[in-house]
Amino acid sequence: MRPHRWLTWNKTLRVWSWNLPAGETCPGQTSWCRTRCYARHNYFTLGLVRKAHQERLSFSKTRSFIPTLVSECQEAKLVRIHSSGDFYSHNYMAAWDEIIHQCPDTTFFCYTRTWRAAEELVDILEYFNKTHSNLFLWLSMDPATQHEQLPSWANRIAYIEMPLWTGYANCLKQTQPGESCRTCGKCFNKFSKKIVFRQH
Ligand code: SF4
Repeated sequence: MRPHRWLTWNKTLRVWSWNLPAGETCPGQTSWCRTRCYARHNYFTLGLVRKAHQERLSFSKTRSFIPTLVSECQEAKLVRIHSSGDFYSHNYMAAWDEIIHQCPDTTFFCYTRTWRAAEELVDILEYFNKTHSNLFLWLSMDPATQHEQLPSWANRIAYIEMPLWTGYANCLKQTQPGESCRTCGKCFNKFSKKIVFRQH
């Protein structure tokens, strides 16, 4: 597999991902996020990893961001946007709109709490959700959030550390060792509407 400069290969999930520093790029973070988010612990606290994520945040504000990511995402074919970090600004989301648009043969998926952020960002999420058939956008919930707070257009919801409801799909990788996103695919098919994750 050809290495990419800015996308990162996640060998456990077997997908390419684009990552940013957790916390400072998460305008919708909750009290739960501040203490429990996996992207603030362990591997993510290593100096090299933190540096790489800061580089990506800086890069996302440059003119090269869109053409470079288009090139890498076209080749990668399956991309998770943000194993860490989130949609942090209007300009950044506009850049992703263009990248996704220019990569019609690539499947993107992401989990976001930006649905809790400023209205102008939530409006862009809604636009993403309606516009890009190659993007599977999941609104993330945790014990600090409530269903009543979700926007009315929410149609894919990811739960973490919440009770398992009948009929809700659990993350296959967490329940069956050896599975990966690539073999599972629940998070990027049009039939999945709810996914439950354990704390990881
Ligand atoms: S449910 Fe499947 S596709 Fe979604 S994160 Fe878990 S293993 Fe990956």
